Amino acid sequence: MKNQSFDSFDFKPLIKQAVEQLHFIKPTEIQQELIPAILNGQSVIGQSQTGSGKTHAFLLPLFNQLKEQSKDVQLVLTAPTRELASQIFDEVKRMIQYTNKEEVWTAKLLIGGTDKQRMQDKLKTAPDIIVGTPGRILDMVESGAVSIFSATAFVIDEADLMLDMGFISDIDKLLVRSHSDVQLLVFSATIPTRLEHFFKKYLENPLYVKIDQKISPELMEHRMIDLRHRDAAKVIKHLSTVIQPYLAIIFTNGKDNADQLAEKLQQQGLDVGLLHGGLTPRQRKRVVKEIQNLRYQYVVCTDLASRGIDIKGVSHVINAQLPKEEPFYIHRSGRTARAGLEGTVISLYTEQDIPMLKLLEKRGLSFVYCDVKDGEWTDAKPWNKRQLRTQTATDLDKEAWKRVKKPTKVKPGYKKKMKKQQEAIKKQLQKKEKSNRNRRK
Ligand code: AMP
Repeated sequence: MKNQSFDSFDFKPLIKQAVEQLHFIKPTEIQQELIPAILNGQSVIGQSQTGSGKTHAFLLPLFNQLKEQSKDVQLVLTAPTRELASQIFDEVKRMIQYTNKEEVWTAKLLIGGTDKQRMQDKLKTAPDIIVGTPGRILDMVESGAVSIFSATAFVIDEADLMLDMGFISDIDKLLVRSHSDVQLLVFSATIPTRLEHFFKKYLENPLYVKIDQKISPELMEHRMIDLRHRDAAKVIKHLSTVIQPYLAIIFTNGKDNADQLAEKLQQQGLDVGLLHGGLTPRQRKRVVKEIQNLRYQYVVCTDLASRGIDIKGVSHVINAQLPKEEPFYIHRSGRTARAGLEGTVISLYTEQDIPMLKLLEKRGLSFVYCDVKDGEWTDAKPWNKRQLRTQTATDLDKEAWKRVKKPTKVKPGYKKKMKKQQEAIKKQLQKKEKSNRNRRK
């Protein structure tokens, strides 16, 4: 820990004042590591998850270097989705307000789903700060509505998601239209190889900081429920009476599953919002606002739609389906137990998920295996205990197979016959084992 308080940064008084108004007492780890370098004008790569305080790790030092009398764009802040861009934009507006510079600094949000012509008109006077998604910013730059050549800093937030969503080429085009000395700040949860190539092209000796988030905060509990061919919506309905969440986020894999589950839960009388990439921009904006205003007790969503969105007060994360990849379990879990609060992650699993459970347990997570019955939690056997039973059966299978007479000459249907014999022998062995057990008793 280098800096224990915000005072040790070389901030102008107006930034110190903003920090106070934000009620931040101590810089987070990523802020401690990155703020001094960003203040020095250095380019950085910050590898960290959402919730680490990365937005202010770049906003505070970048606001510190904003000029007061500029007629040109000074900062470009990009994010892969409209929601993420809007969230950054809200923080930018707050910074302008908290620094008392409403009359001095202007910011514009450039995202899709809004009228291009009107946006171009609004850009007649260049804003100091542009926040947006790469595609729409590029539209505005290419149409000549705004120039970003004057910008001194360029932020790429959630760079790995930019790559997944195919926006890296737009970013590339934007950087070509930026000054070659622009300070580049990249944030990403993971750094895939393709991103590394991209970094090499644009970043000369950046400061690279990786913040290892604990895989699971101490106040987070992980519960596992074996679905056992039941309907997930029904199990969640039973769960709802046990957990009575303040706000639960229910994850599904893909938007079709999300649609179906949300509909079923609504039919069962739960108060459910739905958030996925298939919604129109207007619908998404409305739902995000409604979630923030606590209009729902449950929100069904997909991984992509939820990524990075800062929803406060999530008491439970429910995985109606476990994700296909392990990092997504961690991302999803990270929606709860934030800022020192308690949180519970409850996952419904099937036999197909066992490799994933093994992997997560190897990574140090420990699960409470349970179920719900008559409005209460009940204990359940962990997957490996259940597997032991099948293991015994497999041993019996092996033993029975050993005793099957192997034909010297192979005739049609011989495999089927041997299998039948094996089954018969197995039954005898099971019977014998049972009577032995009874005798011992
Ligand atoms: P982020 O990772 O930028 O999405 O930030 C997650 C949350 O942490 C936001 O609600 C921020 O307002 C909050 N936050 C950021 N920095 C600090 C800090 N130094 N102290 C307390 N809260 C913070």
